[in-house]
Amino acid sequence: MSIATALDAIALLLGERLSRSKSELTAHGRSESYFPLTPPDAVAYPESTEEVQALVAICAEHGCPVTGWGAGTSLEGHGLAVRGGVVVDFARMNKVLEIRPTDMDVTVQPGVTREALNEELRATGLFFPVDPGANASLGGMAMTRASGTTTVRYGTMRDNVLGLQVVLADGRVIRTGTRARKSAAGYDLTALMVGSEGTLGLVTELTLRLHGVPEATSAGICAFPDMGSAVTAVMEVIQMGIPMARIEFVDDATARAFTAYSGMEMAEAPHLLVEFHGSPESVAQDAERFGEIVADHGASPFRWSAREEERRALWALRHNGYYAILAARKGSRAVVTDMCVPISQLARAVEETQADIAASGVPGPILGHVGDGNFHAVLLVDPEQPAELETAKQLSHRMAERALALGGTCTGEHGVGQGKIGFMEAEHGAGWDVMGEIKRALDPQGLMNPGKLVRQG
Ligand SMILES: Cc1cc2nc3c(=O)[nH]c(=O)nc-3n(C[C@H](O)[C@H](O)[C@H](O)COP(=O)(O)OP(=O)(O)OC[C@H]3O[C@@H](n4cnc5c(N)ncnc54)[C@H](O)[C@@H]3O)c2cc1C
Repeated sequence: MSIATALDAIALLLGERLSRSKSELTAHGRSESYFPLTPPDAVAYPESTEEVQALVAICAEHGCPVTGWGAGTSLEGHGLAVRGGVVVDFARMNKVLEIRPTDMDVTVQPGVTREALNEELRATGLFFPVDPGANASLGGMAMTRASGTTTVRYGTMRDNVLGLQVVLADGRVIRTGTRARKSAAGYDLTALMVGSEGTLGLVTELTLRLHGVPEATSAGICAFPDMGSAVTAVMEVIQMGIPMARIEFVDDATARAFTAYSGMEMAEAPHLLVEFHGSPESVAQDAERFGEIVADHGASPFRWSAREEERRALWALRHNGYYAILAARKGSRAVVTDMCVPISQLARAVEETQADIAASGVPGPILGHVGDGNFHAVLLVDPEQPAELETAKQLSHRMAERALALGGTCTGEHGVGQGKIGFMEAEHGAGWDVMGEIKRALDPQGLMNPGKLVRQG
């Protein structure tokens, strides 16, 4: 029983689609964030569920760790093979299998990216709304229970995955869920798998909910004197039932980074970026009413437009936010934090975090999905200065503690990976032990993405 014998058997199964080249191992040993290079022993590129099933059976026989890989954009070192073994890259399982416009659902392979799916859906008048910014794979998004700018209206991956096909650690293939919009038939295995970060099995198919492309869209931006007024305004807008499709905030440091990166002039102040979906009349009315409400909270005039180019430019700015912030400190690496609190606690959480960051000496612009109570600090550290990485980790640690103290969670969307495992006990108590028991029941050898999410044996 060894990794080497498993890899020899997988090489017989996949031929050249099992790679041990240094460049492939390095590419699959890197993360978007600050985690050290952790190359696996090999990278496999299966093309079908049957190949994944055979690969997992070989790994079970020889005790070889198996870690899934989508687009590699996760931020907490999720996909790094910390115990070695084989990384299963789903890039070749990238087909949209069936679109069913009448039922508004679609079945895809896990390597399809969200942008590729929306491109494929273009002619149908439907779209898949979950938008984590990065062009992530749908398999990876399901496994991290991703969400993003549109969650306030369309929900997270939890709300938009109807069913999955999963290869379990012992090589069995199961289907979870159905295409029905609801079911009362037993334990919800789809919900168990979504957010499991590849620790319970490898996903080889997903059935997803689709939504109608809105007839019209309007989007706009305004500045606030301080973060507290911006958050209070958002709470009022939500309470008044104005249906926002996106509502994002950025702090003054992020606005400065945006201006430097994009050339689009923004005041150095907290801003809200907002989008409305509906009919041409309703999106205009929503934008007008939003402008009136935020003006009562000291906001600058709400500049909005229903023109597609202007809307795209606004969201390109937001989607490039991470890279704009990274560019604000040349040569830096980012520790990206992620906390989520009840919206009534959001202003306090942001203000306390800003004060903590300012006292630390590490730059850390803040941006987030204000409608969900979720925000991120992008802590910029000099890779040559280990003390800065330590300071950033301590800041991130205090943010997670702050989230829990305010009734929230240590991660609203990025997931646990390696970075948040230290908070699982504080957040879940005995519930974390139950997660460990589920893991041991489904993966008694601990081979599926070992070292992540549950208590380590
Ligand atoms: C600039 C930027 C902005 C971001 N913004 C957001 C945001 O707003 N919201 C958000 O939620 N996230 C955000 N992220 C994080 C990231 O995009 C998400 O975590 C995304 O869901 C990861 O998808 P991926 O395909 O890259 O998965 P990967 O990173 O490849 O994998 C993620 C996890 O899933 C497992 N996995 C992947 N595929 C499978 C499979 N088929 N079967 C079993 N396990 C599998 C991996 O082992 C790993 O544990 C951002 C990242 C970047 C770089």
